[in-house]
Formats: sequence, C-alpha cells, structure tokens
Amino acid sequence: MVATPIGNLRDITLRALDVLKSADIIAAEDTRNSTHLLGHFGISTRLVALHEHNERIAAPKIIAALQEGKSVALISDAGTPGISDPGAILVQAVRAAGLPVIPLPGPNAAICALSAAGRDDPHFLFYGFLPAKASARRRELEALRELPYTLAFYEAPHRIVETVEDLLQVLGGERDITFARELTKLFESIHTCKLADAPAWLAGDPNRQRGEFVLLLSGAPPETEAGISAEAQRILQLMLAELPLKQAVKLAAEISGEKKNALYDLALQLK
Ligand code: SAM
Repeated sequence: MVATPIGNLRDITLRALDVLKSADIIAAEDTRNSTHLLGHFGISTRLVALHEHNERIAAPKIIAALQEGKSVALISDAGTPGISDPGAILVQAVRAAGLPVIPLPGPNAAICALSAAGRDDPHFLFYGFLPAKASARRRELEALRELPYTLAFYEAPHRIVETVEDLLQVLGGERDITFARELTKLFESIHTCKLADAPAWLAGDPNRQRGEFVLLLSGAPPETEAGISAEAQRILQLMLAELPLKQAVKLAAEISGEKKNALYDLALQLK
C-alpha cells in the first residue's frame, strides 16, 4: 500500500519511489493519472487498473500474481490508498490468502489539514465524504452532532456550498470551520471562521469554491459549568437568534428539559 502525493509531486517518499520502481506490477485507481506521476519519476513498471468498480474482480488476479512470487504495489489517485479510496477489499482478500500487506506511509489530505489548522483538541474523528444526497447527509450529520471531537470531512467543489449550508443547519453557527483547500498545490489556502460566517465567506470569491477541500469542524461544546448540555446550548442559540431573550429561554427550557434559571444565565452571557 503505497501513499502518493496529494498535489506536490515532491511529497513522494524515497521508499515509495524504491517500491514503485522495483515492483513487478503497480495496481492503480486510474492508470492515466498514475502514468503522469510515474512518468515524472521515470518509472515504467507495468500498470493494471484497480478501482471501486472492479476491485472484487481484480483482487483474485492480483493474488495469483503474488502467489507466483511477484510483488504488487497499490496506489490510488492521491494520498493513502484505502482512505476514502479503493484498497480495503483487496487488502482483506490478500490477507485472507495468507499473504503479507505492507503499508508505506505518506501523504493524506486530512492529516495534512489537521497539522496546519492549529486546533487545540487532542481528538479528531475522520469521517471522509458525507453522502451526496441532502437528506442522507443531514441524517449523518445529526448522528455526529453531540461528538466533542474535531470532525474531518472530505468534500468535492460542486457540493461545497450545499454541504456547508447543511453543516450550519445541523451543527449551529458557533462552531469553527476550517477550509483546507488545494493542500500542497499552487493555490493552497487554509481559512478558519465561524460556521455562521462560512456561507458568506464562500460566496465572497468564486475561487474559494474551487479545488479539493478538507473541512474541519470543532466538536460539540462541552457542558457548561452549570451543567447545560451541548444540545441545550444549541437550542438556546437557535431560539436567541429568532426571539426575545425571555421567550427564547422559556422555549429552550421546554424543548431541552434544562432548568430555566441556568438557561437564563447562559442567555445573558451569550447576548
Ligand atoms: N486517499 C486520499 C487521502 O489519503 O487523503 C483521499 C482520496 S479522496 C477520493 C479525495 C478527497 O480528498 C478530495 O475530494 C478532497 O476532499 C481530499 N483531498 C485530496 N487532495 C487534497 C488536497 N490537495 N487538498 C485538499 N483536499 C484534498
């Protein structure tokens, strides 16, 4: 399993070059893409295709080659194979056949984004892609809403606007979001703002919606000192955005079951 660059070709590792040169076969997600990478490094190892649509069919052929004593390197289009990329099915099959699978660490977009985002949080949850369909996307986000960890998502440019709208709807405007865009490439940019300000930031310049994204969201806030849960805080914030303070507190207490006095104190702080 050979990790390859997520943009800047100089991020290839020395070990990856050694293995890609010396392997008998390279199984690649998109052989045309990989021809560019391999050509850049003067590597002419034979390529075969292994992508999400043929992984089950290709796996036995690769196992047969391994059993003949051949070495096979697996690469994806970018980054670490098997991470939001094909590879897991092949790995399972190879291991089940009693053959070794050797990981070569290297670039990964989520880790790259986290390293430069400066989040003071010892935990993160790597989620990868959310569903393309809005209803499924919101449902999955709702299941993540209470988690007190940084959340890392992958997103494509044509869905970035609608995904950010859903993040705002489901997680509320108070969390920080980091847009880590085009990492290691010419137009790399890393921007952090409140989720409430994110749609306007995206709309502010069409270039901000282009390219590849990692989105990092701060986790659910911890209980307040007065013991108000993250969910009650979220409800109170939603109510305060629409209603006068007293009415917001009353409704938030009814919906969340939290004590009115504690919510009132928190509402005064938030206002
Ligand atoms: N296997 C890869 C890895 O280890 O990161 C991920 C592959 S996944 C199919 C592709 C997604 O990763 C993109 O849609 C984007 O969300 C993210 N990604 C890949 N390269 C990136 C980059 N240079 N900058 C920001 N995000 C990137």
